[in-house]
Amino acid sequence: MKILYQTLGCKLNFAETSSLADSLRHAGHETVHRGEQADVCILNTCSVTDVADQKGRQAIRRLHREHPDAKIIVTGCYAQLQPERVAGIEGVTMVVGSNEKDRIQSIIEVISSSSASPSKNLYRFSPEYYTDLASPQGRLSEAGRRFHPSCSKEDRTRCFLKVQDGCDYFCTYCTIPMARGTSRNAPIADTVALAQKAIDEGAKEIVLTGVNIGDFGRSTGETFLELLHALDEVNGEVRYRISSCEPNLLSDQIIDFVASSRHFAPHFHIPLQSGSNEVLKIMHRRYSRELFQERVERIRSRMPGAFIGVDCMVGVRGETEEMFGDYYRFIEQLPVCQLHVFPYSERRGTRMVDMDLPRVSNEEQRRRVEVLLRLSESKLAAFYAAHRGEQATVLWEAAGKGNMLTQNSTRQKTMSGWTENYIRVSAPYQKEKINQFEQIWI
Ligand code: SF4
Repeated sequence: MKILYQTLGCKLNFAETSSLADSLRHAGHETVHRGEQADVCILNTCSVTDVADQKGRQAIRRLHREHPDAKIIVTGCYAQLQPERVAGIEGVTMVVGSNEKDRIQSIIEVISSSSASPSKNLYRFSPEYYTDLASPQGRLSEAGRRFHPSCSKEDRTRCFLKVQDGCDYFCTYCTIPMARGTSRNAPIADTVALAQKAIDEGAKEIVLTGVNIGDFGRSTGETFLELLHALDEVNGEVRYRISSCEPNLLSDQIIDFVASSRHFAPHFHIPLQSGSNEVLKIMHRRYSRELFQERVERIRSRMPGAFIGVDCMVGVRGETEEMFGDYYRFIEQLPVCQLHVFPYSERRGTRMVDMDLPRVSNEEQRRRVEVLLRLSESKLAAFYAAHRGEQATVLWEAAGKGNMLTQNSTRQKTMSGWTENYIRVSAPYQKEKINQFEQIWI
């Protein structure tokens, strides 16, 4: 079968789609790309916000329009949380829950060996795989406790290694624990073997991904710190990035280890979500802003040039103008480099929708997003400016977009890459440097 893949959402989804494509290629199926004819389209969806759900529906319609004869299989978080809704969209052949992606290969075999159109509602054969949003006790099925390792190879340079899945935290606004199940992982030895294989196949940068990766080890009796130590022992020229870690799990030991490790980049991504302690309580987050500040200061004291990105949500129920002002002032003085700003979105099945708290209007949410994005721009510009003229190690990834003006005023094609502390740089294109590390002056 000729199979076209499309992924929406997070790095974890990209890693999983890539592993799925790999195993289907090994089973003899061909991967095709947009614009080529496909027998099957597999869409891996996200459901982090209403907008993500909407993008999922749009993607299904577009795939059906562009490939009217192809079978369309929809998987991922949106499929997991709203299977009936997804199954009802014209063109959808099957809905496969995020916890049963490993069944896709056998589903493809059924499709390829049968001329008859398979049942549209095949997902009904295994309702235990799906999330019952109406039943808080029945949210997490047994199937949601299996771990499927994966490692994406989107390009030659970088790959996303899934080290953990699921979450036990149940923040009041979040559907992810319902879509992805409880926290779980593969043993350290298996994860390190997967990383070593990726390195042997040419990966130069590995991003550790997961839903709540600081919680690694819950299902195997190990710890995230032990995983970092083991990964640091691999052979090969490689660097790692940690995609995101909850502040309450980002211990002094982890920060100190990254500062002294051989392979880990000084790059942190920490979800703050709100800089108001009152809002953090509404969200049921497990830290105060004082602890967050402490974590950031610890990183700065050990790695002064580290990149620190921060997730920020605005406009949750009950977030008043005063609380937002407090939030803004807290981040303003925080020595972080960039903010990833999201408006709160009401999600069926979460506890926040039942809270008797006033809602923030869409217009006000947009205003708060804008205010934080402007703060983010100035923080990023200041971070870049502070590192101009410094020496850094860049991994050249690919040809850059557009040309650059060189010193003798000629226009040249560019290549781009990232420094260890996540500064995007570009230079005149030299093919032999792609996928190589180089010492440069920024
Ligand atoms: S920590 Fe909270 S926000 Fe993050 S995945 Fe778990 S429940 Fe969702």
